[in-house]
Amino acid sequence: MNYSFRKKNKIVKYIIIHYTGMKNLKLAYQKLSDSNSKVSAHYLITRKGVIYNLLCPKLKAWHAGKSSWKNYENINDLSIGIELENKGHEFGYSNFTNKQYNSLKNVILFLKSNFYIKDKNVLYHSDIAPNRKKDPGEKFFLNRIGVRREKHNNKHKEIQDINKMLSLYGFNKMYIKNYKKYCIKSVKRTLNYKRISASISKKFINDFYNLLFN
Ligand SMILES: [Zn+2]
Repeated sequence: MNYSFRKKNKIVKYIIIHYTGMKNLKLAYQKLSDSNSKVSAHYLITRKGVIYNLLCPKLKAWHAGKSSWKNYENINDLSIGIELENKGHEFGYSNFTNKQYNSLKNVILFLKSNFYIKDKNVLYHSDIAPNRKKDPGEKFFLNRIGVRREKHNNKHKEIQDINKMLSLYGFNKMYIKNYKKYCIKSVKRTLNYKRISASISKKFINDFYNLLFN
């Protein structure tokens, strides 16, 4: 199992939701527990709803890779990683199961109360590494686990500028500058769009606006 010790000044602030993106559970389990794989996560939740606690959340797992959110970098330092069994976009992306949602809900409730993690800090891998990652993807519904995204104060309400909206959403400014199209796709996944493109339609601006404010 790959892990590091958390630095004393880095407190756990985020939960990052992933999918395994592997052909089957056995391969995913092997990869997450193989010390040569250079990856690990704290929890793995199977399609049947079985929860594997692979690593103590007090330790740092290697699930996020190169990542940032707002002004924070190296999100592994600050987060707990949860993997959901799903073949992913590469091998046959499917809906998450009811049992998976139920188990995830329980794990998140436990983590939120033990680590004082706020709803707005339950994030996706695609939020913190939009240029590289699509998971958990457009078939994942946050409301199924009783978590609500951050809503912003009315003082920002005039904002219709896409860059400002992306920044308010939480993307790090480096991603907005260099990978804006990927950021837009990432938001569309969060909005559960069926077709994911980088185009900015009026409908998208409207949906994005509602995600941020209403
Ligand atoms: Zn991931």
